Formats: sequence, structure tokens, C-alpha cells
Amino acid sequence: MRVLFAAPARQWDEWAPALTAACPEMELCRDGAPDSFDALIYAPGYPEDGATLDFTPFTRARVVQSLWAGVERIVTNPTLTQPLCRMVDPGLAQGMVEYCLGWAMRAHLGMDNYPQDGVWRNGVVPPLASGRGVTVLGMGELGRAVSAALVALGFRVTGWSQSGRPVDGVEVLPGRALPDALRRAEILVSLLPDTPETRNLLDAPRLSLLPKGAVIINAGRGTLIDEDALLHALDSGHLGHAILDVFRQEPLPADHPFWVNPRVTVTPHIAADTRPETAAPVAAENLRRAMRGEPLLHRVDLTRGY
Ligand code: NAP
Repeated sequence: MRVLFAAPARQWDEWAPALTAACPEMELCRDGAPDSFDALIYAPGYPEDGATLDFTPFTRARVVQSLWAGVERIVTNPTLTQPLCRMVDPGLAQGMVEYCLGWAMRAHLGMDNYPQDGVWRNGVVPPLASGRGVTVLGMGELGRAVSAALVALGFRVTGWSQSGRPVDGVEVLPGRALPDALRRAEILVSLLPDTPETRNLLDAPRLSLLPKGAVIINAGRGTLIDEDALLHALDSGHLGHAILDVFRQEPLPADHPFWVNPRVTVTPHIAADTRPETAAPVAAENLRRAMRGEPLLHRVDLTRGY
């Protein structure tokens, strides 16, 4: 099985050993004739000249396996006719759980309320987790993992997804019930994909539905939030804080107002990295399934966009 590593060259040293260890029968290549490859392993940033990847000449490829969970940069490529699979792996989910819980606990406990300045501020006692409403937008692989961890800590968790598909231990509201989901969100965790339907989902009218002082944690995609509306809601004091890991433009430009707003915490798209040791076995399993003609794991619905 010949597989093209269609990812930025700097990622080769990190990924090639794990991928070949997980799939020893594979010949992993950095380049070659497109019609010689049985599959592609893809990551954004390829090709590195900024051109749009043309999948047409990959006539033999049975699968394009993304190393990223978010596939918005490839899903609309009109030349992509091969099955596209996104990355779902335990390391990615665990990383996202740790990120979201860390920042949610910071907000919940008011950890920023205690500057070490000699002032004894013992007037405000945070509620227990059972008194705190947390809403998770997006109840996919990551949203479900984060919700389960929040529930385990005792938070009152509401989920929201397109379908409203039930999830154990969480009340999941469907698409039309977004206003209810937002009204319950003292802490709002966004783990939605970037699709035409989710862009600017959190606009001024919807942000105004959040309880006063609410904290937003966005680790889904930057396009979900209307940036001007968010800044206005923060500066007016309606929202307490925004922890943002993803942005419309990445890297976030150095002169972007998010960097200097005291109510914004910027993290550089590090919430959940794909780690070769946990992701390579998932990619290997899918490559084998493709070669055997078996159903693929985590196949993207190209019309839905995720
Ligand atoms: P997933 O399994 O595909 O789940 C997506 C969820 O979003 C589903 O629950 C889906 O609803 C819901 N959804 C999609 N469109 C919607 C809409 N218009 N209205 C309401 N709900 C909608 O994705 P995942 O693996 O959880 O990943 C989610 C996203 O996290 C990725 O797409 C990526 O953008 C982001 N991500 C970020 C990082 C990071 O480091 N910051 C790392 C990995 C991933 P249904 O259940 O009804 O289909």
C-alpha cells in the first residue's frame, strides 16, 4: 500500500515513525506520481505553496485520512471525490477535555479574583458545581467527552446539537432550542465545526441571551463568533470573559484587539493537538479498512460539511 503524506514537510519527522509503526505494511511517501498512491494522509498547509490541492490525479486513492478533526479547509474542495475521513482519536478527546475543564474551573472558581496584592477578599464564595449551568455547543466526539467530564464534576450540563441526539447524563437540546441553551450558560463551551450554518452563530442577539457575567470558551472554530459583537458584549460588561483558542485568522495578528482586552484570554490553537501516538493507530485502521473495502471510520458527510 503506497500512501502519500500530504502534510507540511515539517511534520514528517513527528508523524512518519508513528504512522509506519502503526501500519508497517504501508510505504509512506513524501512525493511521487499521484496515480501511484492508494491513499493520502492529509493535514492543512499542504501543498506548502498555498495552492489548492487537486485530488483529480489521485485516481487510485481509496481514502483521504485527515490528521485534523476539523475538515473545513478540505471539505469544500470540488476535486475531492475520494472518501474523506476526519481524525477522531482518544488523545484528541482527552486533550480537549483537559483544556475545557481547566478553563471552566478557572471561571467557575473565579481564580482571577485573587491578585496577590495583600488584600483579603473573602466576600464571594463560588457555588458548587451543581449550582453552575454549563452549556456545550456541539455534542460530537469532543462535545460528548467534555460534557461527560463536566457531569462527573457535578456541573449542570446542557448540550446543544443540530439533531438533539440524546446523550447519557446530559439534556441535549436540538437546533431550534438554541435560545434556551444559551440562557442556561453561565459557562458556554463551543465545540462546533465550521460550516455555513455555524458561521456567526454567536452574533449580538444570541450573545445577549447569555446570563450576565457569562464566560465563553471557544475551542471549536473562530468563525462561530462575530468578533465585534463579542468585544462589545465584553466591554459593556454583559459577558465576563472569553477564552478563545481559535480565530478567523491564525496566527491571530499581533495588533488584534483580543490580545489587549483584559476580558479575553487568547490561546494559540493548542486546545487539542493530534498526537501521533494515539492518532496513528486510528489512521492505520482506516487505511486497512480502505484497502479491504470495508466501511471507513469517521467518514465526513461532504454535503453536511462535518
Ligand atoms: P463532530 O463529532 O463532527 O461533532 C460536531 C457536533 O456539532 C455534532 O454534535 C453536530 O450535531 C454539531 N453541529 C454541527 N453543525 C451544527 C449546527 N448547524 N447546529 C447545531 N449543531 C451542529 O466533531 P468533533 O470531533 O466533536 O469536533 C468539533 C470541532 O472541534 C471540529 O470540527 C474542530 O473545528 C474543533 N476542534 C478544535 C481543536 C482545537 O485544538 N481547538 C481540536 C480538534 C477539533 P449532530 O450531533 O446533530 O450532528
